[in-house]
Amino acid sequence: MFTKILIANRGEIACRVAATARRMGIKTVAVYSEADANAKHVAVCDEAVLIGPAPAKESYLLGDKIIDVALATGAQAIHPGYGFLSENSDFADACAKAGLVFIGPPASAIRAMGSKSAAKTLMEKAKVPLVPGYHGENQDADFLQNEADRIGYPVLLKASAGGGGKGMRVIEHSVDFKAALASCKREAISSFGDDKVLAEKYLQRPRHIEIQVFADSYGDCVYLFERDCSVQRRHQKVLEEAPAPGMPSERRAAMGEAAVAAAKAVGYVGAGTVEFIANQDGSFYFMEMNTRLQVEHPVTEMITGTDLVEWQLRVAAGEKLPLQQSELKIHGHAIEARVYAENPEKGFLPSIGTLRHARTPDAVNFELGGALDPAAFRIDSGVREGDTISPFYDPMIAKMIVWGRDRKEALARMAQALSEYQIVGLSSNIAFLKRLIESQAFSSAELDTGLIERNQAELFPVPLPASLAVVSLATAALLCSERAVVTDGKMDPWQDSQGWRMNSVLQRALQFDEETHTHQVEVSYLPDSWLLQTAAGSVIVHVDAIAHNDIVLKIGGQTVKGTVVRDGEHFHVFSHGVHTDLHYKDALAHAGEAEAETGRLTAPMPGKIVAVMVASGQEVKKGEPLVIMEAMKMEHTIAAPHDGVVDEVLYAVGDQVTEGAPLLAFKQEVKQD
Ligand code: ADP
Ligand code: ADP
Ligand code: MG
Repeated sequence: MFTKILIANRGEIACRVAATARRMGIKTVAVYSEADANAKHVAVCDEAVLIGPAPAKESYLLGDKIIDVALATGAQAIHPGYGFLSENSDFADACAKAGLVFIGPPASAIRAMGSKSAAKTLMEKAKVPLVPGYHGENQDADFLQNEADRIGYPVLLKASAGGGGKGMRVIEHSVDFKAALASCKREAISSFGDDKVLAEKYLQRPRHIEIQVFADSYGDCVYLFERDCSVQRRHQKVLEEAPAPGMPSERRAAMGEAAVAAAKAVGYVGAGTVEFIANQDGSFYFMEMNTRLQVEHPVTEMITGTDLVEWQLRVAAGEKLPLQQSELKIHGHAIEARVYAENPEKGFLPSIGTLRHARTPDAVNFELGGALDPAAFRIDSGVREGDTISPFYDPMIAKMIVWGRDRKEALARMAQALSEYQIVGLSSNIAFLKRLIESQAFSSAELDTGLIERNQAELFPVPLPASLAVVSLATAALLCSERAVVTDGKMDPWQDSQGWRMNSVLQRALQFDEETHTHQVEVSYLPDSWLLQTAAGSVIVHVDAIAHNDIVLKIGGQTVKGTVVRDGEHFHVFSHGVHTDLHYKDALAHAGEAEAETGRLTAPMPGKIVAVMVASGQEVKKGEPLVIMEAMKMEHTIAAPHDGVVDEVLYAVGDQVTEGAPLLAFKQEVKQD
């Protein structure tokens, strides 16, 4: 076995490979770009070497440089992960030439499967069923149009060198063919440097079912059953599960054997995935073979109890397959959800930014005292709280994988896990994934690649206003933070000796905005609670416990738990599996704006003047700080609402002011002609 390997990748897959290597006592070398200097994969490997600037072309795709690093660090093998150099046959050859083991199939197998067209020709010979279509050499537009007419519409055009759902065009009518062909070829040349296309019958309501295969260098090849990856957006996988719902054992065996035949036809070694497109009646056709470890491999690991990276390392080191076909069994059901930094409501547009708060479900459950079974729950992630999702690489935050004794249990656990996953700092698809898991179509396994498009109404509901409980959580977090005293690392809002409160009920108005709703909250301070009055009703709120961001409230007689994370003016409330972003309109911060017309700046709440930065008669510019007051344990700056002249300052440092007291008189500058 190797004693040291280099991992030519980043993110979750680099961390995933490193974890198995570590368990097997193999040292790891990470490579990284300038953008990834503080990345998790750098931290989890034993050594790390900077290979270039952020763009992949100048770092993670520099095969020669990576080989040099492997040689210099004494690594014996290179694991390419997925993406980047993983399906680059020249890189596999270069590794061999340098005396390094490429942890993947032989370069010849990568080459054979690299072109979808050539692969289909090979598969035809191996008697693997193909979607009716044309995958030959002739690229003449009239000829291809004739082929499409013969196949019958709708027809799918694919870039032969394509991948990642790119370079595909669905054509409904013959008249649209030429225009679609031209645009498909344009995308193919710009994305893959090769404008060769193939045409296929576009199947109606198909399922994407793929087979995990594994071969060793002694001619043995097994299949580790199937994964159903039908739930897709823009031809890219969103949810993956194993086994495929409703798969009869005879068809499983038939697909498995077809996949093994496909692998054997190209002299395959290592982990590979044969993708099939299947009709609802179960008939299936070869689509392509991915000659690497697949993103969704964990669901297979969970149902078969294997570690596919360990298998890859063993096979690459010349060992035999760890298990025979007859020893492989399916145990239970597993599902994976891809948690992406993206905005499903805006066409799944990627979102970039910093993970200001990231709490995974295991952490939540741990704090609530309920342990998740580690064998039934797994998160593969390449980012931690504080890390950034940059525009340079895939915006995946994590893969969450759960196991259940059956599909129903796996889905229930996934819904629970999603509802406990908290992210603040960028948009994520977590809420969308939860709706998807719980949707009628998915939960009853009515699977096909159009599931998301067909269920728009259920998957993208009109947002409801935040509940009174959610507004109460945000209000409580705000009021507590204003009073907070930190003792022993815990926030104790009630150990406050110098309370500002007078012996009378105090009132205060707050406002929280959502994208489509506004919540006005009248707060009355009672002896050990608050009375909150809103349009949705009035409640008495008492804080039972508060630690870090977690709050337990008693609202009326009911206990309400939640996590509230403040990000500037935004209060992110996580409660009962729902994430609500409430934008707090700070009356003090905005005091200047509201007072602009009156020419007077008043104290919106009782407090103490801690600084006066201007004198009577002084000219000030808009936004310039005038007075700083301390109220509710926070400093607030009262700024000039516009250019003007200070008429009179009414208080001095140290003065207590009551709510509504004018702090200074202010004259707007009158422009002289
Ligand atoms: P990629 O290399 O981008 O993964 P694939 O050939 O694997 O390309 O196809 C990606 C997806 O496109 C499939 O998972 C499926 O949803 C859809 N697709 C591919 N071929 C067909 C087809 N003939 N009919 C219907 N849908 C298809
Ligand atoms: P003081 O400010 O006079 O020292 P306390 O520290 O007891 O008084 O509380 C100040 C205010 O904080 C109270 O008027 C009440 O509105 C609020 N408060 C205190 N305890 C709680 C609680 N457990 N839940 C909600 N609000 C509370
Ligand atoms: Mg594919």
